[in-house]
Amino acid sequence: MSVQTTFTSTQVRALYLDYFASKGHLKVASSSLVPHNDPTVLLTTAGMQQMIPYFLARETPPATRLTSAQKCFRTTDIDKVGNERSLTFFEMLGNFSVGDYFKREAITYAWEFLTQVVKLPADRLYPTVHPQDDEAPLYWHEIAGFPDEAIVRLEDNWWGPPGASGPCGPDSEIYYDRGVEHGCGQSDCQPGCDCERFLEIWNLVFMQY
Ligand SMILES: [Zn+2]
Repeated sequence: MSVQTTFTSTQVRALYLDYFASKGHLKVASSSLVPHNDPTVLLTTAGMQQMIPYFLARETPPATRLTSAQKCFRTTDIDKVGNERSLTFFEMLGNFSVGDYFKREAITYAWEFLTQVVKLPADRLYPTVHPQDDEAPLYWHEIAGFPDEAIVRLEDNWWGPPGASGPCGPDSEIYYDRGVEHGCGQSDCQPGCDCERFLEIWNLVFMQY
């Protein structure tokens, strides 16, 4: 059986939303690029944004598990456009748990989707965690077999809050190794390096604060 190695964006979007629907997530539409209820940003920058009222218990979510393909515009990345990793306008695929599952399941789903659904080679994938998060590395070991020393700790593995205050917490990112030929050649080149070898393809945000 041959393995499909290229996908259109339409295929990836459908595979993602269908996978999370199969795990009990309600598919919700992308919100407007101009946020209707968030004065902290001019434009929608993340799939998380339309979910924030649910995390703050200001609104009742239509389900505790949600998934979306959100149109995003990143003005903060404008200066970086031209490298091979940053975009201004894109769609962000997201799965959200409002008081339902947490780190273990989030890591399980991400790993299963990447390695079983789109079948990225596991030996090209590298998880990173926040240095103060002692829980996520245990799951990366248990679920995907990464030894502790293979998990890179990055200070910037932290999400939010989007404004002066609000939901925030450590995150765990997944990087795809594009190959040594894309790298800077430095001996300390690893996920988080500023060169174009390791591409961040997933950010698992754990909003525990
Ligand atoms: Zn590098």
